[in-house]
Amino acid sequence: MNNPFQNALSQLARANKVKPFNPEFMSRLHQPNREVHISIPVKMDDGTLKIFEGYRVQYNNARGPYKGGIRYHQDTEINEVKALAFWMALKCAVANIPMGGGKGGITVDPKELTKTELENLSRGWVKLMAPLIGPEVDVPAPDVNTTPEIMGWMVDEYSKITGDKTNATFTGKPISVGGSEGRGPATGLGGFYTFKVMQEKLSLPESCDIVIQGFGNVGGNAAEILANDGHKIIALSDSKGAIIKEDGIDIVALNEYKKVNKRIGGFPGSREITNAELLVLPCDVLIPSALENQITEENANNIQAKLVMELANGPTTPEADDILYSRGIPVIPDILANAGGVTVSTFEWEQNLIGEHWTEADVFAKLKKIMDQETNLIYNRSKELNTDLRRTAFIVALERIEQAIK
Ligand code: NAD
Repeated sequence: MNNPFQNALSQLARANKVKPFNPEFMSRLHQPNREVHISIPVKMDDGTLKIFEGYRVQYNNARGPYKGGIRYHQDTEINEVKALAFWMALKCAVANIPMGGGKGGITVDPKELTKTELENLSRGWVKLMAPLIGPEVDVPAPDVNTTPEIMGWMVDEYSKITGDKTNATFTGKPISVGGSEGRGPATGLGGFYTFKVMQEKLSLPESCDIVIQGFGNVGGNAAEILANDGHKIIALSDSKGAIIKEDGIDIVALNEYKKVNKRIGGFPGSREITNAELLVLPCDVLIPSALENQITEENANNIQAKLVMELANGPTTPEADDILYSRGIPVIPDILANAGGVTVSTFEWEQNLIGEHWTEADVFAKLKKIMDQETNLIYNRSKELNTDLRRTAFIVALERIEQAIK
C-alpha cells in the first residue's frame, strides 16, 4: 500500500537531488508545523451518539496563512492529510499566491449520513478547530465530498463562535455568504489553461482524445470545459464504474443522466469498462481527477496517453513517475495543474477581506494570467534543469518558500 506522505517526501528528496537546498530547510519540510487530531461527537437522527475522527494539518505558513481543503472520505487518515497539506504548501508557492499549506479531513462516508447529520458533523469540526483557524491564520476550503453548502455551514458556525463577520475563514462558500464567482469550475478551468499552454509546447492535436478519471467537481468541470473547446472525452469514470464512447461523450447529457440514475454506467451509446481499463486506454491526454495512487508501477508501463495531467492530488507514485519519464510521457504535476482551485479560493479570501465582489470575467482573467505564467515558467525551467515537470515545480516552489523564510 502506498503511503501518500512517504510518496510526498520521496518527491521532495528527488527534487533536492536535482537542485540541493539548505539541509536545515529540507529537514524543516519533513514534518508539518502542527498536526491536530480531534474526535467529533454527532447526535445521529436515531438518537444515538457517534464519534468521528477529524484532522487538520498546518504544514507550512512561511508565505501566508495555512490554506487547504477539508476532505470527507471513509479512507481519510493522517498520512493522507499530511501529504495533502504538504502539497498545498508547494502548490500555493507554485501559483505564487500569499498562502501557506494546510489540509483537513474527517474519516466518514458522507453518503451514509442524512443531511442533518452531515451538518452537525461539519459544525462539530468547526467547534473543535475554531481556536486554530481564522482569516489570518488558517483558511480551509472544500475538497473531495465537501460542497459549497458544507462550507456555508462551517462559516456560519465559525462566525457564531467567534463573532467574525468577514466570512474570510472558509473559501468555496456559496455566493450568498461571500463566495467568489468562478470558484466552482476554478480547478478544472485552471487545468484547462495549463493544458492549452502544454498543448502548444507538445504539439498535441487541435482536437484531442481525452480520458478522465473522476466525475466530481474537478473532473466534471474539466470534462465540460475541454469538450466545449472541441476535444473528445472518450472515457470517464466515477467511484461506481467507468464508461467509454469512442466518438465522444456528451458531457451535459451525462450530467443529466447521472442526476437521475446516480451513476454513469448505462449512459446511452457507451460501453462499461473497469477503472483499471480506463487508465490504460490509448488517448492524447489522461486526466486523473479522483484520488491518490492511481498510476503506479503496476500500470505505468501500460499507460498509452501522450500526456498525463494530474487534476487529482497525488495520483502518480514516484516509481510510476520514473517509468512515465523514461517512456517520454510528460506529467503535468498536481501542484501546477490543479492550482486553479486554491488560486480562486485566495481571490475569494481577498474579496472578503476588502469587501469586494469581482465579476466572473475578472476572476477568470486573473486565473488565466497566473496559470499561463507559471506553466510557461515551469516548462522553460524544466528544459534548463533537464528534468521532469514535477521536480521542476518542486524546485520553483521550494525556492519561493525558502526566500520567504529568509
Ligand atoms: P469530488 O468529491 O467532487 O469528486 C471526486 C470524484 O472522484 C467523484 O466523481 C467520485 O465518484 C470519483 N471517484 C472516487 N473514487 C474513485 C475511484 N476509485 N475511481 C474513479 N473515480 C473515483 O472531489 P473533487 O473536488 O472533484 O476532487 C477530486 C480530486 O481533485 C482530489 O484529489 C482533490 O484533492 C483534487 N482537488 C480538488 C480541488 C477542488 O477545488 N475541489 C482542488 C485541487 C485538487
